[in-house]
Amino acid sequence: MTSSEGMHDHAASLERMGRLWAPWRIEYIRHSKSMECVLCTAPADGDDATNLVLHRGQWNFIMMNAFPYSPGHLMVAPFLHTADLVSLTEEQTVEHHHLLKLGVALLTRIAHPDGFNIGLNLGRAAGAGFDQHLHTHIVPRWLGDTNFMPVLAHTRVMAESLTSMYRRLSEALEDAEASLSDA
Ligand SMILES: [Zn+2]
Repeated sequence: MTSSEGMHDHAASLERMGRLWAPWRIEYIRHSKSMECVLCTAPADGDDATNLVLHRGQWNFIMMNAFPYSPGHLMVAPFLHTADLVSLTEEQTVEHHHLLKLGVALLTRIAHPDGFNIGLNLGRAAGAGFDQHLHTHIVPRWLGDTNFMPVLAHTRVMAESLTSMYRRLSEALEDAEASLSDA
């Protein structure tokens, strides 16, 4: 391979990534600018299916990420608009963790992932895309998933998969809750 062919391959692969990822990025940026705070407006709207709100606790809720890193990407957040993890009460903290368990049980039940990334990005410096309302990400992972994610990020595929995933998660919620130990 000549160096110019190498450059061409590199440019082609960047171009392909750009095209595949663009719809996801543009939607995300558009929403980020237009919405006040999706973690406040989604649970307050009253239409949980449209807003991808899956489960409500007393202080926290689970919703699907509309711009997922992988299919089934969930978020657990307090209803309270706060970026301050330390300010959560003990009860709020315990329930937050309980909903993380529920999210993992739910995804395990319907999607059988090979692993999970679970975590908080507190502050812009830590990589939070939205840093005003804290939320813990639950990202299911499959072996080799980095290879197919760019394909799944296409807007049309994503919109369809979000709706069907929401339905599947909702249907499995009761069983997943029953499987958790509250002891
Ligand atoms: Zn908020």
